[in-house]
Amino acid sequence: MESELELWKKSGKIASEAREYGKELLKENANFLDISNKIEEFIAKKQGKPGFPVQISLNSLAAHYTPFPEDKSVLQKGDLVKLDLGVHIEGYIGDTALTHEVSTNKNQDLIKASKEALNEAIKLCKPGVKVCEIGEVVNETINSFGFKPIKNLSGHKVDRYILHSNISIPNFNNGDKTKLEEGMVIAIEPFATTGLGLVKEGKLSSNYRLHNPKPVRDPISREVLKFIEKEFSTLPFAKRYLLVKFPLSKVNFALSNLEKQNIVYQYPQLPEKQEDCLVSQHEHTIYITDPAIVLTK
Ligand code: MN
Ligand code: MN
Repeated sequence: MESELELWKKSGKIASEAREYGKELLKENANFLDISNKIEEFIAKKQGKPGFPVQISLNSLAAHYTPFPEDKSVLQKGDLVKLDLGVHIEGYIGDTALTHEVSTNKNQDLIKASKEALNEAIKLCKPGVKVCEIGEVVNETINSFGFKPIKNLSGHKVDRYILHSNISIPNFNNGDKTKLEEGMVIAIEPFATTGLGLVKEGKLSSNYRLHNPKPVRDPISREVLKFIEKEFSTLPFAKRYLLVKFPLSKVNFALSNLEKQNIVYQYPQLPEKQEDCLVSQHEHTIYITDPAIVLTK
């Protein structure tokens, strides 16, 4: 039997490989659906499963864009792309992200700001460190590049089958004196922006998760819910993931029904409050010990 640490390492390694593979796909005219499908096939080939759907968020959109069914979006020259992905094995999730600029080099400082902030934060990671100290170094590093961190987005503790567990890892000093503990797994994800440093809730994203499972009367919704519980458990999934089993009309019907009954939750997209700004993000999943282990390196 594999130890928990071995499983964390295994999923982290596949997530890291998928991120680097995915980066090569971020080219001018590349279609979002193709990129996501290829990355998700890559993960499957390595015997992993998506910890959540591949996220491809552009420019001022900080997070939570996954391709819709029949999405026609393509990358254009100058796009600043946040590629954020997760891999799980038996519920042990590796969560990682990078930022890439398509065919230009105009925003390398902004990209570097979130990357350096992540590196500086990782240097602090060991048992006993307060999460506000991590936030402080993230904020200071991003400020030193002349940008702001996004304060209402944060990293998070990761637990088995729980992507966003009960501890937040802030991107500024929020005064939270919660300490990192031996054996904890956390994701640190600094966002650097030319904007206000705040995101708002935008349009719906077609990212969902099971929220409050309970019996449903309608047979189509019941069948779709059963599939969701079996395939994704408590992890986020995309609407398009349901199309392997059901036609789009059934999926739309069932999801809107399940959403109305608060059984599934649909995440909104998270754009910066300032419309014309740019956002970069980097993320690693880290096993806390001394020295810490960067699982998605
Ligand atoms: Mn992520
Ligand atoms: Mn994360």
